[in-house]
Amino acid sequence: MSDINSTALSHESIATALAKALSEIESAKNLDELKTVRINHAGDKSEIALANRTIGSLQGAEKAEVGKRIGEARNQIRIALDQRTDELQSEREESILIEEKVDVTQVLASGRRNSQAVGARHPLTTIAEHISDVFIAMGYEVAEGPEAEAEWFNFDALNISEDHPSRSSTDTFYLESLDSGVVLRTQTSPVQMRAMLESKPPIYVIAPGKVFRTDELDATHTPVFHQVEGLAVDKNLTMSDLKGTLDHFAKSMFGPGIETRFRPSFFPFTEPSAELDLKCFVCKGKSNKKNNCKTCRNEGWIEWGGCGMVNPNVLETAGIDSTKFSGFAFGIGLERTLMFRYGITDMHDLVEADIRFTSRFGLGI
Ligand SMILES: [Zn+2]
Repeated sequence: MSDINSTALSHESIATALAKALSEIESAKNLDELKTVRINHAGDKSEIALANRTIGSLQGAEKAEVGKRIGEARNQIRIALDQRTDELQSEREESILIEEKVDVTQVLASGRRNSQAVGARHPLTTIAEHISDVFIAMGYEVAEGPEAEAEWFNFDALNISEDHPSRSSTDTFYLESLDSGVVLRTQTSPVQMRAMLESKPPIYVIAPGKVFRTDELDATHTPVFHQVEGLAVDKNLTMSDLKGTLDHFAKSMFGPGIETRFRPSFFPFTEPSAELDLKCFVCKGKSNKKNNCKTCRNEGWIEWGGCGMVNPNVLETAGIDSTKFSGFAFGIGLERTLMFRYGITDMHDLVEADIRFTSRFGLGI
């Protein structure tokens, strides 16, 4: 035994090599460092491996004892290396997660939020729904018709003569060719005829929808805009029913103080016909040359839509006995309604899908 006490195979040497290995394994800060530690203490040229190679110089019980001690040391080193590898691997995974974690407060503060902003419902959509709700509460049903409409529904059925200027291709979009008989509807009124053909009186329908005319886009015009059409056909309906209905509609849009008036007009599909005006809500009808009002151009009133009693010719075309039933109808521009309601002065705001505009209405989804 005394022979080996001064060699690498001594109890002390093996214990020292083991302690050094365990200490370095423990203090390895990362997997790279641990790799070096592994080579130094468990590799072919490690102290313990080299000691193991000289074990053949020992004999009998001594050889067995030293062999066992070296085996145990190597085993301890292997276990320690495995444990530390696991620890360092978990640490590395955790740090990757931390590095890749998105700090939401930082993203919001940096302004990147705008690029991920949620959409907002367009005010045209919400006002159409709001108007539908107002009329549904009065017993109306929502009706729909196609945007590419038969010329017959858009014009002829509404008592619009063949030579009426609104039928010209300078006013109306024709599909494919002028004789295709299909137009992009210029008004929501064809829905009236469809509703009358599909059901029998009493009929109460409200029909919001998109319409098309060959206007250039400017501050007050757009080639694609929206109307809401109302139609009632029943026994004994009169102009006063129409006026009462539109007064209620106006109040639901602009508040209880709003005043309306009828101004005589002409539409082929209603008789008598009227323009529906609202008392100017900017100057309250009190504008004059001294007190100029841009909104009503000193008229005191602004035009909101058209209306009238359904022309008996239109009722008869729909197969409704005009001696037993009467009807009233009205059409209102939705863009116009929105502009009045919110003081929007430029049509571009309504047409361009700018989130900064739509989100102003507080209707984010
Ligand atoms: Zn005014």
